Amino acid sequence: RAHALDGSVAVIGLGRFGSAVASSLLHLGHEVLGIDENPDLVQRWADRLTHVVQADGTATEALRQLGLQDFAHVVVGIGTDIEASVLTVLALEELGVPDIWAKATSTKHGRILERTGAHHVVYPEAAMGERVAHLVTGKMIDFIEFDDGFAIAKTRAPREAAGKTLSESALRTRHGVTIVGIKRGRRDFIYAKADTIVEDGDVLIVSGPTAQVERFSAVA
Ligand code: ADP
Repeated sequence: RAHALDGSVAVIGLGRFGSAVASSLLHLGHEVLGIDENPDLVQRWADRLTHVVQADGTATEALRQLGLQDFAHVVVGIGTDIEASVLTVLALEELGVPDIWAKATSTKHGRILERTGAHHVVYPEAAMGERVAHLVTGKMIDFIEFDDGFAIAKTRAPREAAGKTLSESALRTRHGVTIVGIKRGRRDFIYAKADTIVEDGDVLIVSGPTAQVERFSAVA
């Protein structure tokens, strides 16, 4: 039985997604219990995660013996096998796990996971595809959208802002976005202030409602 401390996380399914989640959690300083039914993967992760166990995530009793009910957070990284993914979420829900995260491969799969007891459903492929679409078509260098319609982007300064202070170019009133930070050349980002002058070629960190951020980042 793994010792589940507050803040420790279990990851079931150590495929590409689950193993990336598990190793990032480890870097962030959390204890991670990894579970996979595939012995090769269990062996591969054995000396990298805090504990790694070979088990079937759909087997409620096996999960109980591993102490999954004591984990504050459990991530289900099973995606391709929808039946196994759904039954694993169901088993965790039966154990009363308070925070279940699950990966979905389609919106239908995601809806089932929500009904089955997942508290958070993530769509890694769809989310990354959307992000890449933003990056390939515009001047955007990076883009993060929050689920409440708010976004932050890293983008090149539009020509209209060059040579002016932020209060002179009035980007907030004209475009509905707030400039958070500015980076010039190889220097570090600085916090944007009303009297900060934007120069041609500067990179901006822009925040605001998603549509406005997208529109602003398309302005030349
Ligand atoms: P990815 O695309 O992120 O690699 P996959 O769905 O291909 O995701 O991988 C899922 C992982 O989950 C695989 O390593 C597989 O062995 C594991 N897995 C699938 N079913 C179960 C199950 N019932 N119990 C435990 N692990 C499972």
